Amino acid sequence: MLRQPLLLLARSTKVKDLVSTMPVSSGIVNRFVPGETTDAAVTATHDLIESGLHVTLDFLGEDTLDREQADQTVAAYLDLLSSLSERGLARNAEVSVKLSAIGQALPDEGEKVALENARTICHAARNAGTTVTLDMEDHTTTDSTLGILRELRKDFPETGAVLQAYLRRTEADCRDLAYEGSRVRLCKGAYKEPESVAFQDRAEVDKSYVRCLKVLMAGQGYPMVASHDPRMIDIAGALATRYNRTQGSYEYQMLFGIRPDEQQRLAESGEKVRVYLPYGGEWYGYLMRRMAERPSNLRFFLRSLVSK
Ligand code: FAD
Repeated sequence: MLRQPLLLLARSTKVKDLVSTMPVSSGIVNRFVPGETTDAAVTATHDLIESGLHVTLDFLGEDTLDREQADQTVAAYLDLLSSLSERGLARNAEVSVKLSAIGQALPDEGEKVALENARTICHAARNAGTTVTLDMEDHTTTDSTLGILRELRKDFPETGAVLQAYLRRTEADCRDLAYEGSRVRLCKGAYKEPESVAFQDRAEVDKSYVRCLKVLMAGQGYPMVASHDPRMIDIAGALATRYNRTQGSYEYQMLFGIRPDEQQRLAESGEKVRVYLPYGGEWYGYLMRRMAERPSNLRFFLRSLVSK
């Protein structure tokens, strides 16, 4: 019941300004976002890798309408990639990028700016010995993001993308992207979307997730199973067996702070597991989407606000 209002609040600049004064160190923020700086992110990455996990890092930010801010985000990724490389972590850690944080939402030339900026990040990632995956945002950006992916893959074929099972179009997108060398991170989807484009019922979303997973596991690409749902994780394992995939020819992915014991259990059973690790000061929209997924998180969040 709270999902829709929380997703609306995720885009409210007034509430954002009020809540963002909270330090990242406060309980609930810190559970999902380990820090604001490159150093904090790299330290958290090091610890996860030490415990047998892989990592993808997201410098938080989205819906940027300011060219300078987009450039600062690119600079933050370059700084991060050079730190990962210096610390010898780039083999097990890649980066995730929201195109709206690097210019996609700018009026007029947004797409062009985002493509140029994404190219710069892909270049730095390749020099560091790692890869980039493009996050997927609300449905109005899907065509643009997949278009930018196609352009990037001409020079950086290792670039991956996220697809969201709640969108009605996604099974077809999975078919398009299930080719050799392609990397697809399949998630359920975290934005407020209209019925015309997205399944609203959780059971329908789950069914779509399984159909998409089948296409990806049967295909020639590299499926990245991004879910905390025990049923989706079991089904992914069964499909991997059905399609004769060996461990490491696909991977599981979960968000930092969610089901850490399960992350560890899967890794200890020989599966490749990657943790999505967001960092930075722009945590508001990300955190609100985590509240919407599990409104019981809201109680802890409100408590952190009151004790601020
Ligand atoms: P659910 O059915 O929502 O949850 C299953 C179980 O997981 C719950 O019962 C609970 O035990 C646990 N759980 C789930 N969420 C939470 C939470 N917030 N707090 C505590 N426990 C929780 N979405 C996008 O739209 N675009 C993206 O680019 C994107 N990238 C992602 C990358 C990764 C690696 C992951 C794991 C998710 C990403 N998401 C993205 C979010 C995704 O779309 C879902 O909103 C989110 O993963 C919850 O769905 P679920 O599959 O875990 O299943």
